[in-house]
Amino acid sequence: MLATAVAEKNAYQVALENFDLAADALELDDSVRAMIKYPERVLTVSVPVRMDTGQIVRFEGYRVQHSTTRGPAKGGIRYHPNVTVDEVKALATWMTWKCAVVNIPFGGGKGGVTCNPKTMSMGELERLTRRYASAILPLIGPDKDIPAPDVYTTPQVMAWIMDTYSMNMGYPVHGVVTGKPISLGGSLGRNEATGRGVYYTVLASCDHLGVPVQGARVVVQGFGNAGSIAAHLLDSAKAVVIAASDSTIAIYNRHGLDIPKLIMHKERTGSLRGFPAAEEITPKELLATECEILIPAALENAITEENAGEVRARIIAEAANGPVTPEADRILDRRSVFLIPDILCNAGGVTVSYFEWVQDENHLFWDEQDVNLKLERVMTRAFRDVLRIHVDRKVSMRLAANILGIGRVAEAVKIRGLYP
Ligand code: NAD
Repeated sequence: MLATAVAEKNAYQVALENFDLAADALELDDSVRAMIKYPERVLTVSVPVRMDTGQIVRFEGYRVQHSTTRGPAKGGIRYHPNVTVDEVKALATWMTWKCAVVNIPFGGGKGGVTCNPKTMSMGELERLTRRYASAILPLIGPDKDIPAPDVYTTPQVMAWIMDTYSMNMGYPVHGVVTGKPISLGGSLGRNEATGRGVYYTVLASCDHLGVPVQGARVVVQGFGNAGSIAAHLLDSAKAVVIAASDSTIAIYNRHGLDIPKLIMHKERTGSLRGFPAAEEITPKELLATECEILIPAALENAITEENAGEVRARIIAEAANGPVTPEADRILDRRSVFLIPDILCNAGGVTVSYFEWVQDENHLFWDEQDVNLKLERVMTRAFRDVLRIHVDRKVSMRLAANILGIGRVAEAVKIRGLYP
């Protein structure tokens, strides 16, 4: 495992810290703050799984609903050895603000199981998923809380959750999860949506800053779903992806990595290791590589006060959730690095999840071009809304996005009359 992205800073503390900054800027009074700051529900579950050896192992899982003020809770499920309840609370909180930034009618939720899926067989993963889905069943449903994929969960995992939920209801319920396989009510374009949304916000940032996309050097930390697709789209737009990493290795080629081949290599071997025409660098060097666009697309706390001073990028596009700590934010801000904050940058995933849910509920499916056009419209509008606050109020892009998202949640609380 690479050391850079291990969560040293408690992600939930980061979320609370960022909440207070935005609430101060919005001059929210104490009763509104109290209503929208903390999760509505936090569920911890035991997930006993019969392993292939016959032994039964107990895993711990979580589902957090941070807010249902603007609509059903919405958020992914993460399978990772470092999952903690505080991490899930942070991710659920960010989902609330993210859905509000792109203005879709969802609240925020998140789930996770502390496990190492890389060491588990498909059978073990299926049994873990079905047991976890059964344990969180009272909370989820198409009108209550709708999970989706996150780190190390896949469309197949979503299909098992949909099946487990449907067996319990006695009829098929497609809208209970998004990010499903297309053959099971998934949406065209959903698999690529997070990376595509990152791409649209990077294009908008380049346009705003006058940075030509053609020839722009790109560095990607975390070559998974979000990172590899953003890299692929930028490569197609004639940017040059010079470095990339996954949990096993970081690689570099100053003339540019062959991205279609790198994606095939990762699919075939499960790792970036062994890719020809690239030299190995350290994870630390990767984040310090001189470039126009740096895309942290792995886990939280990749850029901290320790390494923020070494970043040599013009733009940081937060494909991951919470990759930059508040201390690092301040350092990067002073150094005039333009940040596309996570709740804006990676909101393409939840936006197309929303489209998937709409299609499932209406039993009417759209073509891919339609999905992508609608996504582009949502992402571009959200980017403009955040940028306007950034410019008008002279605040960082992070604070601008939080002001927009948290402001909309506060508004909804007041209008619903939940506010005394
Ligand atoms: P994924 O499982 O597809 O990919 C994660 C990648 O990160 C893998 O290639 C893994 O090897 C790599 N990785 C893990 N630890 C690393 C480390 N320490 N250094 C470098 N690379 C490392 O996951 P994903 O869905 O692409 O999610 C990545 C990030 O994007 C997460 O923060 C997730 O919350 C966020 N995100 C994902 C979506 C989505 O729809 N998939 C939506 C919004 C946000």
